[in-house]
Amino acid sequence: MRIVVGGMNHESNTLNPIITGEDDFVVFYGDEVLSKGASPYHSSTGIIKTLTEAGCFLVPTVLARAVPNGVVSFAFYQRIKAEFLRRVDEALKQGSIDGVCLALHGSMKVEHLGCAEGDLLTALRERLPRVPLTVALDMHATITPELLACANGFVGYKTAPHVDCQETGAHAAQLLLESLKTGRPLYTAYRRIPMLIAGEKSESEVEPMSSLIAACRAAEQEPGIRAASFLLGFPWADNEHNTVSALVTSLDAPEPAEQCAEQLAAAFWARRKDFAFRAEHYDSACSIKIAYEAVLEQKQAPVFVSDSGDNPTAGAAGDATDLLEQIMLTIDTVDSLPTPLLYSGFYDAPAVVACLNAGEGATVDITLGGNWDTLNGKKIPLRVEVKKIARNYGAYHADLVLAAHRNLLITITSKHIGFGDESLLPALGVKAEAHCLVVVKLGYLEPCFRNIAARAIMATSKGCSNELLETIAYKKVRRPLYPLDGEANGGS
Ligand SMILES: [Zn+2]
Repeated sequence: MRIVVGGMNHESNTLNPIITGEDDFVVFYGDEVLSKGASPYHSSTGIIKTLTEAGCFLVPTVLARAVPNGVVSFAFYQRIKAEFLRRVDEALKQGSIDGVCLALHGSMKVEHLGCAEGDLLTALRERLPRVPLTVALDMHATITPELLACANGFVGYKTAPHVDCQETGAHAAQLLLESLKTGRPLYTAYRRIPMLIAGEKSESEVEPMSSLIAACRAAEQEPGIRAASFLLGFPWADNEHNTVSALVTSLDAPEPAEQCAEQLAAAFWARRKDFAFRAEHYDSACSIKIAYEAVLEQKQAPVFVSDSGDNPTAGAAGDATDLLEQIMLTIDTVDSLPTPLLYSGFYDAPAVVACLNAGEGATVDITLGGNWDTLNGKKIPLRVEVKKIARNYGAYHADLVLAAHRNLLITITSKHIGFGDESLLPALGVKAEAHCLVVVKLGYLEPCFRNIAARAIMATSKGCSNELLETIAYKKVRRPLYPLDGEANGGS
């Protein structure tokens, strides 16, 4: 069997003005998809491994991935789409294609266009109108009519943070294989659950998500059901399709999927009031004040404060300054801390260039923040000592700087890469556990931080990943939506 594989993974935050372009993406073409695309954290790995082990001949197309950010450049998307389709067209000249299995995010938005996945699948369907097509999706996928019309089977991640990507890919591949081997069609039922949920209220280990995901797993054991998923939408993307949804795929007959999706949607809706932040949480000023007290009076260390409103891994700009402004207002207290306050960090390419030009050990005047998120960020002038430089870090080839201002240590990146990566601080010679107070531009703490945190405080700071959804001025989402429109509202 000849199967088309490939994928696109980007979570596009429409509140962030950055246009995500070619420099922000890692893209593999053709055979590179198979040789370089494997990572345990990607659903494409599970797809490729499962189909290869089943003896399929794979037609690799394009695999594109970037850190969540603002919407994707139209020109760049058109290029990867054209490459994708060109490879399918070439394969079709050599023989028939039996199926398609793709690794997609589901909330990739392109400037002037909207849903990238729906656009790509629509073009693919013009070439392959009848073959079975299955997709692995991120839990934060936004389901659009185009996606539903083009794909036969869907599997979403069941974990947040997402640690089951490979399994999800394998599951999507198994759906395809079963349909191909039996000759029976897949059917997918969709139910809109009129809610939006802040990312930090939906960890899968915590109620109510743990019970709801358990219900999906139980449903997958029922006769006829092959996959059951909750897709949460992406709260920081303002578009008409944004909502939570239940998607259930069945084999051979649509009725089991319809019935199951109805039940799962009702179960989710019934738990809507139970979604809550796991961590203690306050506004920026209060968070930093409580963190100082925890360190200085209660002798707790390390205390973590998440700058959750400006979390680059949720697509925020990474240069909002709400929390930094509070720190600068209290810089004398920072000086009284027993070890430097570590702030990881800022995406600020001009500041990195200034520090690189000055060199390690030099003192230089920079401004930090406010390049992109000018609504929630100002250019804060700082005289810093350049403590450490690390060039060409990670898959996205970022330059990193560790800069000191009085008793404040800040990591600054030349690229929009996020701060949850466990190897970023070590690359600068920093151990988070050596600092009494650590501020990170993250939402919930990644395991590398959570495992060492004496206390975790979430600042509901201002930025493009503002966790207080009720305060976001949505213009396009279809209303009513819970909780934006009150407790009883949501419609159906
Ligand atoms: Zn996600």
